[in-house]
Amino acid sequence: MADNADKSDPGLPVSCECGYIKMRTPFSKPLGTAHCHCTTCRKQSASAFGTSVFFLSKDVFPLATDVETKLSVYTHPTESGNTAHCYFCPRCGVRILHAALLPDGTMRERVSFKGGAIDDGAIDWKALNTKHIYTRSAIIKLPEEWECYEKMPPKLY
Ligand SMILES: [Zn+2]
Ligand SMILES: [Zn+2]
Repeated sequence: MADNADKSDPGLPVSCECGYIKMRTPFSKPLGTAHCHCTTCRKQSASAFGTSVFFLSKDVFPLATDVETKLSVYTHPTESGNTAHCYFCPRCGVRILHAALLPDGTMRERVSFKGGAIDDGAIDWKALNTKHIYTRSAIIKLPEEWECYEKMPPKLY
């Protein structure tokens, strides 16, 4: 288990727009967060950028059976040669979490919950100072006070 493993930690509440999917992140404190402006994140979020909330995959998978049987999965190859597994609500279409399988079939170390799927008030976003990444493809004017990176920062979090 991770250093911050705490059985009394209920994690963050996660849900889709229609409420069919309800689950929790493994812990209340994510490893990190990012706002990504890449073209893929723009498509999958159908918005100006996608927000990721990272946890260790070993703490998230396997998913609880009652959640896993409800979720649909869209898979696609990524630029880095992995296969993205994008879990979403089959009723309202909201993306819930993304995992990536490496070419050898093992799961990448981290998975990301979609920031907007985390229920209101569960994360103090203003205190996090989340970095903006892949801003080379941003379609919005980036405020000067945002910490922005054309691609990936040397250290994401
Ligand atoms: Zn839904
Ligand atoms: Zn992205």
